[in-house]
Amino acid sequence: MNKIYASLPLLGFAAFSGTGKTTLLEAMLPKLVARGIRVAVIKHAHHDFDVDQPGKDSYRLRKAGASQMLISSRCRRALVTETPDEEATLPHLIAQLDQTQLDLILVEGFKQLNFPKIELHRAEVGKPWLHPTDNNIIAVAANVSVPASESAPLAEKAPLPLLDINNLEQITDFVVSFIQGEVHSVKPEQPQGLQCGDLTPQGMLSVAEGRERILVHIVPLAQSQTVDLKASLGQIVAHDVLSPVNVPQHTNSAMDGYAIRGDDLDCECYDVVDHVMAGHSYDLPLEKGQAVRIMTGAAIPECADTVVMREQAEQTENQVRFNLTMAAIHPGQNVRQAGEDLALGQTAVAAGSKISAPELGMIASLGINQVTVKKPVRVAIFSTGDEVQHPGEAQKNNCIYDSNRYTLHAMLTQAGCEVIDLGIIEDSEAALEATLQQGSEQADLILSSGGVSVGDADYIKTVLDKLGQINFWRINMRPGRPLAFGQINETPFFGLPGNPVAVMVVFLQFVEPAIRKLQGMTDWQPQVFNAVATERFRSRPNRTEYTRGIFGFDANGRLTVKSTGQQGSGILRSMSEANCLVEVLPEQANAEIGDSVRVIPLQGRM
Ligand code: AMP
Ligand code: MG
Repeated sequence: MNKIYASLPLLGFAAFSGTGKTTLLEAMLPKLVARGIRVAVIKHAHHDFDVDQPGKDSYRLRKAGASQMLISSRCRRALVTETPDEEATLPHLIAQLDQTQLDLILVEGFKQLNFPKIELHRAEVGKPWLHPTDNNIIAVAANVSVPASESAPLAEKAPLPLLDINNLEQITDFVVSFIQGEVHSVKPEQPQGLQCGDLTPQGMLSVAEGRERILVHIVPLAQSQTVDLKASLGQIVAHDVLSPVNVPQHTNSAMDGYAIRGDDLDCECYDVVDHVMAGHSYDLPLEKGQAVRIMTGAAIPECADTVVMREQAEQTENQVRFNLTMAAIHPGQNVRQAGEDLALGQTAVAAGSKISAPELGMIASLGINQVTVKKPVRVAIFSTGDEVQHPGEAQKNNCIYDSNRYTLHAMLTQAGCEVIDLGIIEDSEAALEATLQQGSEQADLILSSGGVSVGDADYIKTVLDKLGQINFWRINMRPGRPLAFGQINETPFFGLPGNPVAVMVVFLQFVEPAIRKLQGMTDWQPQVFNAVATERFRSRPNRTEYTRGIFGFDANGRLTVKSTGQQGSGILRSMSEANCLVEVLPEQANAEIGDSVRVIPLQGRM
């Protein structure tokens, strides 16, 4: 059975009924609270318990059919969920708690499940010991000593601490030391499979740690170039683009209608002295009693400041009257002020911004047709492996076609980079060395795929050690555990995994943030939001798990997410069908149906 984890210490009390679990917890809780520990208790009940009181509104509404009843006041809230079909699992219950407000979760019951527990035992209850058959018990609190025969099966293991069930202070101390990590019962599972740590053991890094360690070594590139506006699409603005004009240039009409003076609203009718189309003007000051028929975007005449829309006006010959009361006309209405969008000298697009459609339009609207952008980041890519072949060649035995250079090419282009394709490199020291040299001379960043997870391809480490400073990391993520990062002759280098999906996930999580920093984008962050899981997303605790997913709205307008199905790290189809990555964080165990999960949209990134 799977081990149950929470992002904070989880500790159970296991005993047969009659041992006094609740009494002990009730006595211990004030002591924990007095030490500043915020505690949640999850208790298993065997019967059809009900915390709600007959006659109360919440009870009435629930009995009337609310399958979930959430009642809240300033002092407390309670959620009562009917579970007629199936009882909730402990991980699901843990996920219901607000773990940001807690230091400890105590569990009473659920003694069959795998999580750390203290066994409570009283001789007079006359029940057997639990620890001989439960590896999760980390201590025994009893009023008798454990007989030698019972402790025998434990002899091979470390001896269990024995506590006095009547000594509350001692048990509390034990719980506090458990929280502080002095009792290490929750050991992260050992990593399996190929371990590039064999090359230089650096331990396992979390995704966030890995990214941080990479980003400190990335220095934004300084070079810029001035290009035609259309060619700047997708590039990064090098200097603030300041507005050389007011936008709009003139105060103008927001409607088709009649321009009048705001101090002249009480006329029966007005003389229509001109008809002004956009791009034209009426060049005399408007007098009282006069109106100018005006089209949207046309300049407001001098002294006029108010526009009445055409639908509210009746024009006969050269006169107009408004079918409105004077009070319904507000001086200044339906007029756009000069410089309202952007005043002269104001920053239109800040340095470090990426130019997309609105920025392109905005710069054009200022009358500017060239822009200074950062020089595109030049990225050299190559694939490694004797088994990897160029598409278009006849397939050889035991070989695969190179897909990584193609996915990388696409993602790099999408990120605004210039790609230098160095091809496929055979598994040899000389070829690798020559290619890395070439990459470091021609590019601002080098990416390779494959070869970093193979323990026996030691030549890679030899070459990398010779040419630069490289770390081989195991990132605690799936897919994509092995990652090499460092510098070849000062040029940043990523040794990406070989598996096609792993390459893409590692690119999104590590390479793209580095590219954004190289480009000079300040505080680039991928989009992330939460959605409700409509299937179980499995994840091993302590590991960040990326599932290719499809998010969308369900019939109730909830944002939900499901997986694309089979998730092998070589299956590119799973990526192609996906519109997002589902990220299950290390502190989260499996995400169950109905749990909230993090969703990273892929649109615009590949
Ligand atoms: P490696 O990290 O070199 O052991 O590669 C892991 C897996 O990814 C192996 O199954 C390789 O055949 C595969 N692989 C490596 N490079 C590529 C590539 N360029 N395109 C597609 N698959 C690759
Ligand atoms: Mg290989």
